[in-house]
Amino acid sequence: MRRYTCDVVVVGAGLSGLTAARLLHKHDLDVAVVEASGRVGGRACTLENPDLGMVSDQGAVRCGPPMSTLWQLIKDVGVKVWQQSPSQMVYITEDGVSRFNPTSLPTWNPLVRLDHHNVFSTMDRLANQIPPEEPWEALSAQEWDSCTMKDFFDRTVWFKSVRRITDAFVRAIACAEPEEVSMLWFLWLLGQTGGGRWATLVNPNPPQFRVSGGMQHLCKVLAEQLGDKVTLNCPITKVENVEDGALVTSKEATWEAKAVILAVPPPCYSKISLSPALPEAFHHITMGRVYRCTLYYKTNFWGNGDRFVQLFADYPGCLVVNAYDDTVPGNKYPAFTATVSGRNAIEARKMTKEQRKNAICKCLAKAFSSEEAMQPLHYEEKNWNEEEYIGGGFCGHFPPGVLTSNKTFGRCNPTAGRVFLAGAESATRGYGFLEGAVWAGKRSAEQVRSTTSSYISSYTLYIIVL
Ligand SMILES: Cc1cc2nc3c(=O)[nH]c(=O)nc-3n(C[C@H](O)[C@H](O)[C@H](O)COP(=O)(O)OP(=O)(O)OC[C@H]3O[C@@H](n4cnc5c(N)ncnc54)[C@H](O)[C@@H]3O)c2cc1C
Repeated sequence: MRRYTCDVVVVGAGLSGLTAARLLHKHDLDVAVVEASGRVGGRACTLENPDLGMVSDQGAVRCGPPMSTLWQLIKDVGVKVWQQSPSQMVYITEDGVSRFNPTSLPTWNPLVRLDHHNVFSTMDRLANQIPPEEPWEALSAQEWDSCTMKDFFDRTVWFKSVRRITDAFVRAIACAEPEEVSMLWFLWLLGQTGGGRWATLVNPNPPQFRVSGGMQHLCKVLAEQLGDKVTLNCPITKVENVEDGALVTSKEATWEAKAVILAVPPPCYSKISLSPALPEAFHHITMGRVYRCTLYYKTNFWGNGDRFVQLFADYPGCLVVNAYDDTVPGNKYPAFTATVSGRNAIEARKMTKEQRKNAICKCLAKAFSSEEAMQPLHYEEKNWNEEEYIGGGFCGHFPPGVLTSNKTFGRCNPTAGRVFLAGAESATRGYGFLEGAVWAGKRSAEQVRSTTSSYISSYTLYIIVL
């Protein structure tokens, strides 16, 4: 068994862990980043296929100035970004295909528009009543945490067509069904990420950017800057608080450190023997279900001038929840990527890869009336629930009763030892998304710095007194 000593061990080389390590390294702390898998980036994962001349993001894709902490990191690190053109939405249901701009709705029925406006503005209003740092302190926290988003929609929505949109909204963001997620948790999430309108069919469409070379490139650059401080293929199995520090153990090595930052997704907490243990409620955070599926074509038959095409689909038997033009500048071929999430991901799991590909092609053929849609040049897919050290995507959700049962969520140091939490699911800003990952990484580094520096100064004082 190899033994190392360092100031801080960061467990997990996703964006959050790497952000924390970067800050600690900048402040001259000796840091070791230990990653279970064979690559850095976690849920930022970019496939590269030089034969096809393509780069495609299978995980996180988009960023933009409203994600201010992430945006600052991108600027500091100096990776290049490119801007997507404004969107054209395509909405496909059993009633047909409608095309519209993000600021309009695919209906002229004033009552349906009123219903739609009412449910989304109610979500925004309630979300604003939830304190981001302490969601359990909201006036109606207990009531909202005892029911699901399905209960809320049952009470609030009048029209079936609007109900479809609200259900798809939860499926698209949480990758889970409305009946699975706590109303308090979902509204808390919306409040942190800019309100219910940001991802709806009436999105005011803030500018969207993508990292050149893919989102994982940002993580690779962060890891390069840390050099040999990053160890891959090394799952951590045990983290113990000991006197004056912590002990971190994998199969082959042990690290003695003054502090540990745990930057892993919630399902991985239970794979690590932690002492003291995290409160039991942390183990009830559940990852969403999601596949990312990319198809490459000879031509972009969906092309709409300069507009970036996004597709929302909802008809019986349809696998796709949403999909978008994924043509990346410099790639040899145009591409379209589909997200299959929530209940649709359960259906997808019962199919073969070929069946999933055909189901997605059929949806594109229907949406764009194109025969070429059935003949992609190449198909790539990723089932995030099969990732042993991640467990799903986009993020972890809370079933009813969990958020109010433990008032240490969103606290960096829930056990008051030397173990600090980072990771997108420990954020109270940008929860579950890239912004949250960077925000929580920064926060954990700042907390570790203040803890270790008080440890060092009391140690220095002790020596002086002696
Ligand atoms: C399909 C998909 C699309 C998304 N799209 C977007 C988007 O467009 N915009 C956006 O903002 N967000 C998006 N997200 C969410 C975003 O990717 C995540 O919020 C973010 O990447 C989380 O970063 P993290 O560092 O907290 O966790 P992760 O990226 O999950 O990293 C955690 C790391 O910990 C490692 N680990 C786990 N257990 C151990 C162990 N025992 N020992 C050592 N290492 C361990 C894992 O291998 C992993 O590398 C998407 C996510 C998915 C899956």
